[in-house]
Amino acid sequence: MPKNTFRLQVEEMIEKQDALGLLKKAGEMHGHLCNYLAYGVMAGLYGIRKLGVNNTGMEEIIAVVETNNCFADGVQMVTGCTLGNNALIYRDYGKTGVTLSTRDGRAVRLVLKPEFDDTREKEYPEAYALFNRLVARREQGAPEDYGKMMRLFAEMSVAELGVPAEKMFVISEKTAALPAYAPIFETVKCQSCGENVMKTRSVKKDDGVYCIPCAQEEYYELNGGGIVRRS
Ligand SMILES: [Zn+2]
Ligand SMILES: [Zn+2]
Repeated sequence: MPKNTFRLQVEEMIEKQDALGLLKKAGEMHGHLCNYLAYGVMAGLYGIRKLGVNNTGMEEIIAVVETNNCFADGVQMVTGCTLGNNALIYRDYGKTGVTLSTRDGRAVRLVLKPEFDDTREKEYPEAYALFNRLVARREQGAPEDYGKMMRLFAEMSVAELGVPAEKMFVISEKTAALPAYAPIFETVKCQSCGENVMKTRSVKKDDGVYCIPCAQEEYYELNGGGIVRRS
């Protein structure tokens, strides 16, 4: 399978341990530069180098992320394990951690060290004060406040790349049984809206097959609050 240029560039940066280049690339996808994005980049970079495997998006590497904050985007960009290529598994633990595994069962888990995580606000008081005001409490701020906050977090993200991985993460090497390759499911048609739907997500009723919304069934949604049940 031919490799795309984007992935080749990423692999070259991994090879050269170009964390800043990777962070900038991650920022293009993520929309901004922030410290948790940088932690995801660092975790991905460390893990990929440790396991020594390249990823073509065919599930050679599986990433199990334990959070859906900015960290997860850094991991996705560097590892190439994404939601769409089934190599990203989301476990709703609410921890800034990731386990990378290869097909031969080698795995490495990195989780943010509490003593590192807990001291960020003290080390970057100005950025966090703005964050708490404008994002956490959703207080109205002047446009220049937002600009300043974004700039401070971008600067912070770059500075954090200089922290050694061992100081940032609890790192454990382990063996992991990888999940089977993602199965390919049959497609069926909802008899109400006519849209195609994966058979495993279709709802069988006495008079035929429906999709979840037409059948008004409950479902799970991954949103800012984690995985939640909706109906
Ligand atoms: Zn972010
Ligand atoms: Zn339908």
